[in-house]
Amino acid sequence: MPILSLAMPTPLKRSFDYLPPLELSEAEVNCLQPGIRILAPFGNRQLVGILLEVKHSSDIPDSKLKAVIRILDSEAIFALQMMELCRWAASYYQHSLGDVLSNAMPALLRKGKDLINQKQSRWRLSTDGKGLPAGALKRAPKQAQLLGLLQQQASIDKGDLTTENVPRSALNSLLKKGLVESFTGDPAIDQEARADTEPALELNDEQQFALDSVSLENGYRCYLLDGVTGSGKTEVYLQLIAKCLQNNLQTLVLIPEIGLTPQTVGRFRRRFNCDIVVLHSGLTDRERLLAWQAANTGRAKIVIGTRSAVFTPLQNTGLIIIDEEHDNSFKQQDGFRYSARDIAIKRAHQECCPIILGSATPSLETLHNAINNRYQHLQLTQRAANAKPPSYELLDIRNAPMSEGFSPALLAAISKEINAGNQVLVFINRRGFSPMLMCHDCGFVAQCPHCDARMTVHFQQRLLRCHHCERQERLPRHCPDCHSLHLDFRGSGTERSEQALHGLFPNTSVIRIDRDTTSRKMAMQELLASVYTGAPCILVGTQMLAKGHHFPDVTLVAVIDADGGLFSSDFRGPEKMGQLLVQVAGRAGRASKAGKVMIQTHHPEHPLINSLVNNPYQHYAKQLLKERENSGLPPFGHLALIRAESNNPQQPEEFLRALRMQIESNTPVENPEVRFLGPLPAPMARRAGFFRAQLLLQADKRKPLHHSLKRLCDAGEQHALGKKLRWSVDVDPVDML
Ligand code: ADP
Ligand code: ZN
Ligand code: ZN
Repeated sequence: MPILSLAMPTPLKRSFDYLPPLELSEAEVNCLQPGIRILAPFGNRQLVGILLEVKHSSDIPDSKLKAVIRILDSEAIFALQMMELCRWAASYYQHSLGDVLSNAMPALLRKGKDLINQKQSRWRLSTDGKGLPAGALKRAPKQAQLLGLLQQQASIDKGDLTTENVPRSALNSLLKKGLVESFTGDPAIDQEARADTEPALELNDEQQFALDSVSLENGYRCYLLDGVTGSGKTEVYLQLIAKCLQNNLQTLVLIPEIGLTPQTVGRFRRRFNCDIVVLHSGLTDRERLLAWQAANTGRAKIVIGTRSAVFTPLQNTGLIIIDEEHDNSFKQQDGFRYSARDIAIKRAHQECCPIILGSATPSLETLHNAINNRYQHLQLTQRAANAKPPSYELLDIRNAPMSEGFSPALLAAISKEINAGNQVLVFINRRGFSPMLMCHDCGFVAQCPHCDARMTVHFQQRLLRCHHCERQERLPRHCPDCHSLHLDFRGSGTERSEQALHGLFPNTSVIRIDRDTTSRKMAMQELLASVYTGAPCILVGTQMLAKGHHFPDVTLVAVIDADGGLFSSDFRGPEKMGQLLVQVAGRAGRASKAGKVMIQTHHPEHPLINSLVNNPYQHYAKQLLKERENSGLPPFGHLALIRAESNNPQQPEEFLRALRMQIESNTPVENPEVRFLGPLPAPMARRAGFFRAQLLLQADKRKPLHHSLKRLCDAGEQHALGKKLRWSVDVDPVDML
């Protein structure tokens, strides 16, 4: 009897053998396609595995083999190429293939659900229905709920009624009133006719050169589109996509999490009269699966998505675009710690298509590859459409009489812009009211009991919240240690700055954008709507404001505190700071009005800050590259981090030490190709109640690094503690926490 070899969603890095279901004949079993999903028993659970191959023998005796429960698909969910990509990723990131495959599927497929039948009827708002304002139909709460749902997602089906618990009668009422209509068709795709699309812009010389340089016919090639903020990178993408469409090829566009704004998507939709799907975290499981199906069948010609969209199957890939390629959200920070950018490059290689990495502040890794001609370096040095680059001013705030974090010079500048009818963006990369609650009488500081971190004050909510775990407490009225009422809030976050600006500019609207004000669906859109009216306002927010937005009326960007990044313990600190400052500065003066950036600092002569404001970003980046080269850090060396955590304070280090010793006992001591650092306590040694340690591996070449890493992982799986504590491998870590 043939044997089914499955990849199962477990951390164990091997395949699992099963017997086929009894009802299938041997011939039928032999015809099963690798890449289909199969439900199989696993311990006392049932898991969805992926068929790797049909074999004719197993190392495990037949009597010990269990039979699978059910074959879920008739056709492969993972085509050969996607399977190959996942295999590569599993081996590169030292992760189990079963778990990689599971990550690569939409949630419903992961749970064993069927593909969605696209022929059943669906409902959407009619023209009259679209005319209703948000919050209409208040007197019929169920109808109002349904209306709200339809205002949020383009269409719904029977399944949505059940999940949202809306009775069929509410739908019937809306149908009768003519506010809703039914249709059949592909729901993932916007059904509206888009006859009049926006025309392409006439490119400037640099854009034209970039467009002409990218070849869609010559297979794999990686390009860095290195263009200053507002230089029209997106226009280049759009015109390349147009070429793909002419050749009936699909394009995959990856965008950072917070860059995926309705504004960005709107630009694509307005340009092309074709089917576009967008994969983002706000989708329901059903919507996500529908979008996935539309991409998989080739109907959706443009697929736009965040990190995990890199695994979206396509029929005929013509081009991959990674916008803001330097963005950290492309790296998954837990579980399967992959870089979507790096996987996308591998994918382009496999599928023989070009890939474009776009950024105004390319990562040092990418820039290094461009300088070495591994990638073709395309540069856009000018802002498009006559917009001028913003001018910078460093504000020395040593000894300045500050009010709530604002120096007099900055306040004067804000006033001036507001009075001139312009908009101002205030950037402060910390949410909440204040990062520190301190007792003035005894020095008590509010700490998270579970983390090595301070609690952040959220004043409006009257809460102390830990930003590293879920912990929250009521904001105390008096000091828990000495009962003094003299509690101080030290330092500012967005909430405090917002409050201060309200007081200082009582007649101007102040709009706060951070994770707390935008967590509700559509909240970001509602907040930004008033910005797009062009009326004078002050936007205050975190890095959420730095990315991708096009605010034509912002003429002043104020950076409240640039000093944090200068003295970071993370070797990527200066790179991240530079990227963030340049990106946020890039929101100023993007249209006809000139823009200015004012940066408050206690270190106005610091060479890094000066290099950043006086030269193009590349100059700064090349300086950082020199430093990296001197210390053998990426991109000149390669890193991997093994983390371990446990509620036992000793075990993480003990475990990592054992792994290190096991490897070193087998390696010649002289001139080792892989250097170890640690085990050491993690920079945050305790988080969410767990004690954390890490072991860093550093090597000049990839091969020995991966070789050692594999041996370390094997040793970890064998080690008794390996099962007791949580440990993980992070290849090319971006965050050392
Ligand atoms: P980037 O993606 O590099 O930040 P965008 O593509 O958003 O830049 O372009 C910035 C602004 O310049 C947009 O308003 C865009 O419409 C405009 N723009 C881009 N290219 C051109 C062009 N060739 N001619 C006129 N306007 C352009
Ligand atoms: Zn006290
Ligand atoms: Zn905590």
